[in-house]
Amino acid sequence: MPSSPVSPPTETDLTHLRRCVELARAALDAGDEPFGSLLVSADGKVLREDRNRVAGGDHTRHPEFELARWSAEHLPPGERAGATVYTSGEHCPMCSAAHAWVGLGRIVYAASSAQLTSWLKELNAPPSPVTALPIGEVAPGVRVAGPAPELTEEVRELHHRFARGRGASS
Ligand SMILES: [Zn+2]
Repeated sequence: MPSSPVSPPTETDLTHLRRCVELARAALDAGDEPFGSLLVSADGKVLREDRNRVAGGDHTRHPEFELARWSAEHLPPGERAGATVYTSGEHCPMCSAAHAWVGLGRIVYAASSAQLTSWLKELNAPPSPVTALPIGEVAPGVRVAGPAPELTEEVRELHHRFARGRGASS
């Protein structure tokens, strides 16, 4: 089965992605990992936003996972299929799976999992316990756009700040 092609984000996509990066910055300022996401309806309305909340010790508290579960509870299947999830960092396999299981639509990300993995390496950060598979390998039916080169440096800088903070506190 061919996986869906990855296309570049549009101007509207970039507006939403910038908000995701703001949420990622808010997560970092609150002592959490810098990730932020938005759920946007088919007619462009922001339905929900969230950021990483793993600092309390539950490492499944990714914003994309929260948005998938929120949409399953609050949106009929047709609205889920038309909705887009924007996120500062590409979905991890857990979140890609949740996204596909609840039947959400498109995903647009600012930085790819491959980029995140290489940044963690250059920072000597501990590797993720979960393999960083691209969304298309976990959820081949989902349309995907990303990464957004316009935001690469900003997202990279947030991850560097997070790694430096962790290094200083341990
Ligand atoms: Zn995730």
